Amino acid sequence: MKIRLLFTGIIAFLMVGSASAQRYVFTRADTLRGSITPERSWWDLAHYHLQIRLNPTDSTLTGSNVIRYRVLKPAQTLQVDLQRPLKITKVVQDGQELLFRQDENAYFVTLKKQQQVGRTEAVTVYYAGKPRVAKRPPWDGGMVWRHDKAGEWFIATACQGLGASAWWPCKDHMYDEPDSMLISATVPKGLTDVSNGRLRRVVENSDGTRTFDWAVVNPINNYGVNLNVGNYVHWSDTLNGEKGRLDLNFYALAEHEDSAKRQFQQVKPMLRAFEYWFGPYPFYEDGYKLVETPYLGMEHQSSVTYGNKFRNGYLGRDLSGTGWGLLWDFIIIHESGHEWYANNITYKDVADMWVHESFTNYSECLYVEYYYGKDAGAAYVTGCRALIRNDKPIVGIYNVNHSGSGDMYYKGGNMLHTIRQLVGNDPKWRQILRGMNKTFYHQTVEGRQIEQYMSQQSGINLQKVFDQYLRDTRIPTLEYRLQNGKLQYHWTNCVAGFNMPLRVCLNDSGPYQQLRPTTQWQTLPGTGFTALTSDPNYYVYVRQAAGQ
Ligand SMILES: [Zn+2]
Repeated sequence: MKIRLLFTGIIAFLMVGSASAQRYVFTRADTLRGSITPERSWWDLAHYHLQIRLNPTDSTLTGSNVIRYRVLKPAQTLQVDLQRPLKITKVVQDGQELLFRQDENAYFVTLKKQQQVGRTEAVTVYYAGKPRVAKRPPWDGGMVWRHDKAGEWFIATACQGLGASAWWPCKDHMYDEPDSMLISATVPKGLTDVSNGRLRRVVENSDGTRTFDWAVVNPINNYGVNLNVGNYVHWSDTLNGEKGRLDLNFYALAEHEDSAKRQFQQVKPMLRAFEYWFGPYPFYEDGYKLVETPYLGMEHQSSVTYGNKFRNGYLGRDLSGTGWGLLWDFIIIHESGHEWYANNITYKDVADMWVHESFTNYSECLYVEYYYGKDAGAAYVTGCRALIRNDKPIVGIYNVNHSGSGDMYYKGGNMLHTIRQLVGNDPKWRQILRGMNKTFYHQTVEGRQIEQYMSQQSGINLQKVFDQYLRDTRIPTLEYRLQNGKLQYHWTNCVAGFNMPLRVCLNDSGPYQQLRPTTQWQTLPGTGFTALTSDPNYYVYVRQAAGQ
């Protein structure tokens, strides 16, 4: 997603105290949603077959989901999530109807059949109702029921943060993904549904509706699943990419065909740049799609959604304030960057959402660098610092469906840019990014795994750097004294033990040199120093100690 973080009713929390000493009170619903409960942990998702019928005239839907799973541990109670006001109407296993009880937005199903470890079983969950309508998609989430200019239905789903269980029953926790999925969407006559993966078939039903079967053959995260329904025109292309031939499919409203055909030409150069930095597009088997939606955009896996008005920038604006952000379409670049960071490498817990957004923010800088040079990329990422708030830590609270500060975008990107300075070797930096996408290919991860991976691959212990930028709101400050040409310096306003090296210039125009400050004052050998400035690529402050 993009830029604005959301807190909705189900993530009800209470903030007590000042911004610097935040405490939260979480509800039982937060725990049921945000933790790997015993009723979730014993089974491993294998496959979803979601069948859904949209009835736009009364904003309702009916459907079912066949949940296929492997039994990991003996247990007889299975948790499925579905948010009010939708309701589960029936659960069936092997033809037998099962009892279930509802607790908040979770349903606990009592299985009759003995669940044997190692076996694959399935339950079919039937449901119906009038799903929550999104008021400000994609930020608040839910169903989007709109019309195009010609008066045709233009319908979409958006559920990042809110959760996929806002519109279909599932295991609504990010740690577990099905290996594959089939989405069968039945929509009114004349309309087209575009979902994830590849279109397997279209069935013309006797009542005039049409059913679209979309097959996804890779693991997919919950909020990545989507429906997009409208009067679409469709065209295709192919890219000869790192892993062979990649199918590209484009869908836009008929009324926007010309603008879309022009703007969507940015897809191929985007894929070239990202394959260079991150390795092959992670879902060749499912293809790449760009699909117009009635909201700004989202990183739906293999069907990136687009509503940026066919203009460059973020709704025509440059977030960096440097001009570099106006040379490309923010939604095409950012949301597609998520195919590597969000859809290929996926957080287990939303507290680690920086894994998605910090790297994807940095992908914008890398895109600029690929086409306009290293200085342009650096200007873009450092230009975005004006949007950093330092209001609360980037890492949220685990197990209660809580994400951290929106600083995960610009501050996260600047943290990565700072770490790149520490690595000090661009081919190595690129290998770290490519290696990460290979090592954690199609996996869900903890943020700590990414931190450790970067330390190991760079050969630098980055623990204090991550603690500083992800778990603290202070900007580390190099404090110095200049007396009779001698320089003393140390880190302050930082986590205990912070010891990040820093490139500085010690005279008005001299070359950069590396300092190795700690929190203890040190004196630099030599004399004749007249000034101290830091390399602007590092996200730090520098100040002269008071009293001089
Ligand atoms: Zn994003």
